[in-house]
Amino acid sequence: MSEDRNRLAEWVDQERERIVAFFRAFIRCKSPNPPGDTAEAAGYIGDFLRREGLAYRIIAPNEKMPNLVAAFEGGNQGKHLTLNGHIDVFPVGDGTGWTKDPWGGELIDGKIYGRGACDMKAGTSASIFTYVFLHRIRERLKGRLTLTAVSDEETFGPWGARYLVEYHPEVLGDCLLNGEPGSPYTIRFGEKGPLWLEFKIRTRGAHGAYTHASESATKLAQRLIADLEAVTLIEPKISGNIARSLEAARESVDKAMGEGAADIVSKVTLNIGIIEGGLKVNMVPFACRFEADIRLPLGVTREQVMAEVNKILARYPQATVEEINFNPPSYCPPDGAMVGFIQKNVQDLRGFKPQPIVSLGGTDARLWRYRDIPAYVYGPFPHGMGSADEHVDLEEFLHIVRVHVLSAYDYLMAH
Ligand SMILES: [Zn+2]
Repeated sequence: MSEDRNRLAEWVDQERERIVAFFRAFIRCKSPNPPGDTAEAAGYIGDFLRREGLAYRIIAPNEKMPNLVAAFEGGNQGKHLTLNGHIDVFPVGDGTGWTKDPWGGELIDGKIYGRGACDMKAGTSASIFTYVFLHRIRERLKGRLTLTAVSDEETFGPWGARYLVEYHPEVLGDCLLNGEPGSPYTIRFGEKGPLWLEFKIRTRGAHGAYTHASESATKLAQRLIADLEAVTLIEPKISGNIARSLEAARESVDKAMGEGAADIVSKVTLNIGIIEGGLKVNMVPFACRFEADIRLPLGVTREQVMAEVNKILARYPQATVEEINFNPPSYCPPDGAMVGFIQKNVQDLRGFKPQPIVSLGGTDARLWRYRDIPAYVYGPFPHGMGSADEHVDLEEFLHIVRVHVLSAYDYLMAH
C-alpha cells in the first residue's frame, strides 16, 4: 500500500516535464468566457486522456461548452471521490496591461504565464493527473474516482457543473476535491454567496435649471446607495465550530486574500458595480439604474438581506429592485476527512499546516455542498487572477499536483 503511495509521489517527479508541458499547452487552448467556447480546450483534454488509454464521456447540453466526465472503479469497495475543475477562463479583452502573451503559456523565471494559469488550468491539470496516476494502480485502490472537467464556470452559467449535478447525479460522489486558486496555506471548506440586484429609479425629469420641477433620479440613487450600506450591518448566525474555524484562520485568510480579508469574511459586503443615469449636464435626470453585488457570509439569508433592502426601498417610491443572480453561501465540515489528509501531506512536503477557511469568491464546489457533499478547494496563489499577467509559480503548481494526487489516494484508501 505504501509502495503505491511512494510510486505516486515518484511519478509526479519523474513526469514533471510532461505535466508542465500539458499545462502550458492547455493554457494555449483559448477558452475565454464570455463567449465560453471551450471546444478546443476540451478536445485537448480528451485527446490526452485517449492517448493515456482512458475512457471518458462528453456531456454537452451546449455543444460549444462540452464537459468531460471519466470514472473508474477501484479493485475494492470504498468511497467515491470526485475531482472537479473548470476549462473556461476569464476573457482578456484587448490585452491591455499584459506584458506576456495571455495565450502563450510562457515559462519565465520559474513562473508560467497566461490567462487561466491560476484560474484554473493549474488546478484542472492537477485533477487530470490525479486521475491518470490513480488509474494506473486502480486494482489496488478502494472505491471509485470520478473526474469532471467542466465548462461555463466563470459566468455562473447553466451548461457546466450546474448541468452535471442536476442531470448526472453519478458525478456527485461522497466528497469533492477542487484546485481553484486560493493559497497553499489554506483549504477552503466554504464560500460567501453573491446576491446581485438591479435598482431602477424613475422621475419626471426636467430642464437642468428647473430643479423645482422634478426630483433627480441620480441624486435619489446616490442617497439610496448610501442607505443600502445598512445591509453590511446584518449580523450572521453561525454555529460554534464554524465560528472557531473562522477565528483560527484569520491570519491565513489575510495571507491568501490580502490584508483586511479576514474582517469581511463574516460580514455582508456591498459593491455598486455599475451606475448609469442622466443624458446631459443641463437636464435633471429622469432615470438612473445601478447594480449591487451583495456578498452574504455563512449565517445570513437572502430573506434577511431583502427584508432590509425592502425596508429602505419603502422610503423611495421612485425605485424598484430586481434580482439578477443569487447563490447562497455554502460550507461543509471544516474538520472533514479530506482536510486532515491535505494538512498531513502539506505538513510532510512543505512543513506547514494549511488552515480551513471560508473564501470571499465562489467556485463550483458550492454545487456539491448544496447537496450535502463535503467539497474542498486546495489551489495555487491567484497572481493576476482576472487581471493582467496572470501566472502561477511552477513549483507551486507541482506542489498542488502532488497534494491532490496523494490526498485523493489517502482519502480512497482510508475508507
Ligand atoms: Zn475559477
